[in-house]
Amino acid sequence: MLDRPHPTPEAPTLDPFALAKALSGAHFIDGRYVPARSGRTFPVVNPATGIEIGRAAEGDGADVDTAVAAAARAQKEWAKMPARKRGALVHACSAALKAHVEELGRLIALETGKALRTESRVEANVVADIFEFYGGLGSELKGESVPFAPNVLSVTVREPLGVVGAIIPWNVPMLLMALKVAPALVAGNTVVVKSAEEAPLAVLRICEILNRVLPPGVFNMVSGFGPECGAPLVAHPEVKKVTFTGSVETGKIVYKAAAEKLIPVTLELGGKSPMIVFADCDFEKTVAGALTSMRFTRQGQSCTAASRIYVERPIFEKFVAAMKQAVDGMVMGDPLDEATDIGTIISEGQFAKVKSYIEEGTRTPGAVAHVCSAMPKDPALKKGLFIQPVIFTGLTKESRLVKEEIFGPVTVIQPFDDAEAVLAEANDSEYGLAASLWTNNLKVGLDLAHRLEAGLVQINQNLVVQANLSYGGVKSSGLGKEASLEAMLEHFTHKKTIMVNMA
Ligand code: ADP
Repeated sequence: MLDRPHPTPEAPTLDPFALAKALSGAHFIDGRYVPARSGRTFPVVNPATGIEIGRAAEGDGADVDTAVAAAARAQKEWAKMPARKRGALVHACSAALKAHVEELGRLIALETGKALRTESRVEANVVADIFEFYGGLGSELKGESVPFAPNVLSVTVREPLGVVGAIIPWNVPMLLMALKVAPALVAGNTVVVKSAEEAPLAVLRICEILNRVLPPGVFNMVSGFGPECGAPLVAHPEVKKVTFTGSVETGKIVYKAAAEKLIPVTLELGGKSPMIVFADCDFEKTVAGALTSMRFTRQGQSCTAASRIYVERPIFEKFVAAMKQAVDGMVMGDPLDEATDIGTIISEGQFAKVKSYIEEGTRTPGAVAHVCSAMPKDPALKKGLFIQPVIFTGLTKESRLVKEEIFGPVTVIQPFDDAEAVLAEANDSEYGLAASLWTNNLKVGLDLAHRLEAGLVQINQNLVVQANLSYGGVKSSGLGKEASLEAMLEHFTHKKTIMVNMA
């Protein structure tokens, strides 16, 4: 039973402002809300207004120690539970989450500025879906029998790794947390999550919801800043696996720290995903596909956003005009308003970074900045971190806007004449997360799909992460896979071989 000295409502609530306040100032450790040992907190700000909506516990090594100790205690019993029963509990988490979809959607919209209808509610539904998917996979934790010798029984078994440290970012925090936590739990591990400093509240509420179903200590969460709270989690001797989503820079720090302990790591880092459009594509379908691929509904804050679009020259002008018109039709406004398509950037730091890329692109000789959509008029939103989406043309491959991950509502469209040349340009990137191809010539499409350097290539669609499909990048985009059965087996268990000589 959940111990609740904290004033959060048990039933789903549609008032995200009240919920944000009620969730303030706590980690979730061993089935309970607890304040930081230091007593310190930091503000959580609504990026649509600049107003503080709540506070988060500012965790450090002492809080991490408490959380990891709770997870380590709980792991012994959790691992002994039959795998299908663990799965059934994770499945029950999904049911509990479904009852809170609207609440979680509203809360994440409030703290991240992502529009409720186009992004935040969708994210909340996907979280429940991920728990449902993994909840059914308990009995897939099976091993093999190996034909070693007639009188020797040789089998493999899957064992959990122990306590998993999961570090998440702010762009889709609930979904990315679910992708790490659900498979880790079904596989018999226990988890300590370090939430992102910009978006700690909705994930904390999820933590409470899961703890209504799971035994205490199985799933814990601490909030705080990277070096003070994330680093001690990675370095903790009882943490036997780290799974991280974030920037390449921090990913390297995490990887090095994990190497000191020789523990396995999964890294999901950035992307600069190309979209290649051939003249023979279904034009309208491709424009609609590009609109979702650019992830402008998430203000471009997505590692898989199509941030480089290459269009075959005969349809280049027509495509740019159609894209401009389509984005112009998108409504920027209050993330909690159902009419809103595009919300705000997460933080002032990101806002300044995205703006500086836009200014650099605008200043580049030969470049044209097609500025789209209208800024919101509501005076209550005048301090909101809104950025008008920009489609750039006339930039070359030397531009930082073509090479670097901007994580904003910015895309670059360039013409191409030759399939081999565009393939070379698409692959000329430090990243390799996702790519899409738009053509009715599947012979060309499949050939390029095989030769694109990316973890995920889609032809004539560009869907976001799906629970049952393996997801993860190559090159600087990361290491290891998330989602799918493979992620659970390969990244949250180790395979032990047992041999019995019966001669
Ligand atoms: P972003 O720039 O998108 O915020 P980061 O990679 O800095 O991406 O952050 C992703 C997550 O990693 C956040 O939860 C952050 O607090 C955490 N983090 C940052 N620095 C470290 C670190 N040195 N060790 C562990 N986690 C960190």
